[in-house]
Amino acid sequence: MSFVERSLPFIPNPVNLEKSCILVAGAAGFVPSHLSEFYLKRGARVIGLDNFITGQHANVELLSAYKNFEFHEVDIIERLPETLYREKVDYIFNMASPASPIDFSRIPIEIMRVNSEGTRRLLELARVQGARILEASTSEVYGDPEVHPQVESYVGHVEINGPRSCYDEAKRFAEAMTSSYRMKYGVDTRIIRIFNTYGPRMRANDGRVIPNFINQALQGEDITVYGDGGQTRSFCFVTDLVAAIHEVMFCNDYTPFNIGNPEEKTILETAKLIVEILNSKSKIVFKELPKDDPTRRRPCLAKLQAVSSYRPLVDFRSGMMATADYFSALAPASLEKSPLHDSFRPTKCSQSYTNSI
Ligand code: UDP
Repeated sequence: MSFVERSLPFIPNPVNLEKSCILVAGAAGFVPSHLSEFYLKRGARVIGLDNFITGQHANVELLSAYKNFEFHEVDIIERLPETLYREKVDYIFNMASPASPIDFSRIPIEIMRVNSEGTRRLLELARVQGARILEASTSEVYGDPEVHPQVESYVGHVEINGPRSCYDEAKRFAEAMTSSYRMKYGVDTRIIRIFNTYGPRMRANDGRVIPNFINQALQGEDITVYGDGGQTRSFCFVTDLVAAIHEVMFCNDYTPFNIGNPEEKTILETAKLIVEILNSKSKIVFKELPKDDPTRRRPCLAKLQAVSSYRPLVDFRSGMMATADYFSALAPASLEKSPLHDSFRPTKCSQSYTNSI
């Protein structure tokens, strides 16, 4: 049994998942692939959608081993597979969005479109189907927060025209659109705000701090700390995040919930820990801090803990080792510093995938 399998807490089924059809938009992505597998293992039928702009074919290949998985390669900005209107869909997870800061300068229009046009399309599907829909929002809606730790009632401190705005504002729009569908049409909605998450199946060249630091440490390269490393983040291992997503989907509260792990660390501390855990010879070097990089980030989880027994179970050291094992086992080619464009060059889908209509 893998570390990921062992780490998932036992969560009783709130509904008969074996009779449920779950749609996961963005299923080839890191978190959604784990979420899809969680429900596949519990007997649900899972339909995954992705256009591979940042999702990985390997994640879909892995999910395709389950007979109750069906996949459509489709861009939800343009359309949804027609079959989704013909058969019953019970639960929709909208997790289709690039999320790494390096994507913000590369594909800002795609980010804004998928969170507006794509989200609207899924909300319409939920309306027609009478399905419950969960919108995966982000801690980025708080911007560079002036309230610490972040509580859901905090309305944020967000730059409107900066390098992160395409993502921050798109997610704020997606939340507002989700709430509007609930208020206008009575759609059964849920909203989560995901804080920094890490684990196996992240893109090796995703640009985010944990893959960067681990791969630098594994290869004995300099560890690139941006700024003086005094900025903080709170890192959640992916199985803990999946458990939290599930708790929110099946609770009775449509208002937004923070999800993550509240253990806060500076980035410099994180770099030192990774060097120590991986017994690496890498040196720490300091690079320019990107504009609008949030100074502090930690979720207040009181709201989630008031409606569930959720608490993160995986400590940083164990989660980091499991993630490093994953990156170590990847073929060297996937660790190369090739331009990210290479990683989403379309490749042929395997025969077992269902084509979208
Ligand atoms: N960071 C860093 N070195 C890297 C990548 C990121 O010091 O190689 C910093 C980044 O400036 C930010 C934090 O790590 O303060 C988290 O960055 P990430 O891109 O993972 O996500 P964010 O939380 O900023 O969305």
